[in-house]
Amino acid sequence: MDPVTLARGLVCCPSVTPREAGALALIEGVLKRAGFQVHRVTFAEPGTVPVENLYARIGTGRPNLVFAGHTDVVAPGDEARWTHGPFDGDIEGGVLFGRGAVDMKGAIACALAATFDYLAAHHGKPKGSISFLITGDEEGVAVNGTVKLLKWAADRGEKFDHCLLGEPSNPKSLSDMIKIGRRGSLNGTLVVTGTAGHVAYPQLADNPVRGIVTLLSALMNAPLDDGSQHFDPSNLEFTSIDVGNKTVNVIPGEARARFNIRFNDRHMQDDLKALIEQRTGAAAGPVRWRIEWEPSNADVFVTKPGSFVDLVRAAVAEVTGKSPALSTSGGTSDARFIKDYCPVVEFGLVNTTMHKVDERVPTADLVALTAIYRNILERYFA
Ligand SMILES: [Zn+2]
Repeated sequence: MDPVTLARGLVCCPSVTPREAGALALIEGVLKRAGFQVHRVTFAEPGTVPVENLYARIGTGRPNLVFAGHTDVVAPGDEARWTHGPFDGDIEGGVLFGRGAVDMKGAIACALAATFDYLAAHHGKPKGSISFLITGDEEGVAVNGTVKLLKWAADRGEKFDHCLLGEPSNPKSLSDMIKIGRRGSLNGTLVVTGTAGHVAYPQLADNPVRGIVTLLSALMNAPLDDGSQHFDPSNLEFTSIDVGNKTVNVIPGEARARFNIRFNDRHMQDDLKALIEQRTGAAAGPVRWRIEWEPSNADVFVTKPGSFVDLVRAAVAEVTGKSPALSTSGGTSDARFIKDYCPVVEFGLVNTTMHKVDERVPTADLVALTAIYRNILERYFA
């Protein structure tokens, strides 16, 4: 089956998160025709929208190689700014335009096309099993998606050996980068309490702005670490400083600063929190402070280079003629959930237009990524 036709079909489903919009139905149809057992499962939770997901498998043996991905997309924004309708699936000059073309309906289409081609060449059966784990809740809150789908599959007795997640991993061209891990992410708010008062009588007040400036500079000055074998240094970034004071002659009673930390594998959430609080305390003197931490489901992970990473890298090199770098850069992805079940690496399309107006992919990239996935399947079940 042609990956371009499949990608086009998926792009034409306006599956803005968390809507299904026919995208999973399309995948269900083609997988069933290829002999897969397909399950459509909807997850819900109070306070969230129910979201549809799909799990499909062919074969019963091991190893079980899983292609993971999401069919939901981010909103197109102002559609008038697009040169082609975001859900029209137009191809012009060898380029497919549309929301989700690279993030990541294109890669799902390539994984499907590669799988069908592999099955056709092997009497319709893999030596082990091939599975698809597709969610409609990646771009949203990611509560009713991959995290629950993995649990659901595990409860049914499904075992995964390796996972290939088709997120757009390449900065410029298709042979650039395999992601073998992701940094963790942690949000917090630094709160400094003072005593409100009249600006003309500062001795009767305690200005929290002075205190928070001291603590901000202490936390921004010292690096958290100097990186590790596979990761850049961890980074704490303040994103907002808020006093909310509309009055010019009043010293405020409280100042707050929000921050995010992207951390590498030299930290776990708890020791990182302890480190930040220890540094804050050391700089605080008489300043009254506390940190409000937000719950985070984004832990750091790395799939250590080994046979599976080597296999993916060799497949990319054979098809493109270039050996991709191994990286842990970028934001979080559903790989952070999958890593609890099996080793996972991410390799997909080029990410320059993702989430932007005129998101697009050269059809040649779809053909090449299909060849790479096909090569991976051949090596994996050799
Ligand atoms: Zn994505």
